[in-house]
Amino acid sequence: MKLALHISPLNSWLPSCEQPPLIAGPCSAETEEQVLGTARLLAKSGRVAILRAGIWKPRTRPGEFEGVGSIGLNWLMKAKVQTGLPTAVEVAKAQHVEEALKAGVDILWVGARSTVNPFTVQEIADALKGVDVPVLVKNPVNPDLSLWCGALERINHAGITKLAAIHRGFSSFEKSPFRNEPMWELAIQLKTLAPELPIFNDPSHICGNRELIPYIAQKALDLDMQGLMIESHLDPAQAWTDAKQQLTPIALDELIGNLTLRSPEVKNAEFEDNLVKLRAQIDQIDDQIIQTMAERMKLVEKIGEYKRDNGVTIFQLSRWDEIIHKRSDFAKALNLEMSFVGKLLELIHGESIRKQTEIMNEGVPPEPKS
Ligand code: PEP
Ligand code: MN
Repeated sequence: MKLALHISPLNSWLPSCEQPPLIAGPCSAETEEQVLGTARLLAKSGRVAILRAGIWKPRTRPGEFEGVGSIGLNWLMKAKVQTGLPTAVEVAKAQHVEEALKAGVDILWVGARSTVNPFTVQEIADALKGVDVPVLVKNPVNPDLSLWCGALERINHAGITKLAAIHRGFSSFEKSPFRNEPMWELAIQLKTLAPELPIFNDPSHICGNRELIPYIAQKALDLDMQGLMIESHLDPAQAWTDAKQQLTPIALDELIGNLTLRSPEVKNAEFEDNLVKLRAQIDQIDDQIIQTMAERMKLVEKIGEYKRDNGVTIFQLSRWDEIIHKRSDFAKALNLEMSFVGKLLELIHGESIRKQTEIMNEGVPPEPKS
């Protein structure tokens, strides 16, 4: 089902430019000099569309720097006058919305720690009623697409049509090189549910370190995200928040200059022709995979019945070990990525066990499907 959002196109509220729009600026406004100095350098590069800065910082632990508060709005407004850059700040309650709008902030965003809470989002939405301001909604901290959609709907129902999403990654228990797992599939699902909704990518909060940012920024553009939000600070090592992930304006300029812009549009008839042929081959292989999977499941049913009739357990460790080893060796020989093959086998094996459990326990209500 599609999301019923009323969206104004991005170019109706952002000056169109050749590059995907870049929102950049410090994680937090710290001092007037830091805001103005960073803004001047960012504007000089000519690559930045919007100046961002956190004024009220929603911190995970109390006692950490919680933002300079309203005074930072004055610094941002000075930066706007000096550079001509429109400004964006995070709002987490009605009072923030009111103060930011009163000060003349151009764009508001809802942070990941607010998107998780429908009460907070509704409070922000209510404060936005009757206001025509662009609002960006970050994904919630946890990988829950419905919460993200719900927040977008609440803001949209308040009458905000200049709306976009920001993909900033999701927290996860898995060990990972990223601060927040990108889980690209969730951003892609959002795009499928609301094709007209622009999605910005925030490589800074996904990566948590400077080194990985170019890789994530490029991938975001390759996945046809509409823009980027990247944190930039005059002196990142001394930043009061998120020091490891901020880039100097010069490093940011270089990073953006090195990105490759690819077009989602079909280039010419020959290209289209080749693409259609390759896609047809892929479609055929996908059909084969599904068919083979159905055949495998038929055999699994047979085995399940056989085990049931002979009083044998569903799971046998030695057999699972054999599957993993034999298939992994084969996959390696075919140059497949081992982590991918591991996940695929686990998925297939999990479904086989589910199927056999069903057969062994005929008449017993089935296990809930995840
Ligand atoms: C931020 O943009 O500085 C921020 C707090 O981000 P997030 O809400 O994604 O954690
Ligand atoms: Mn930050």
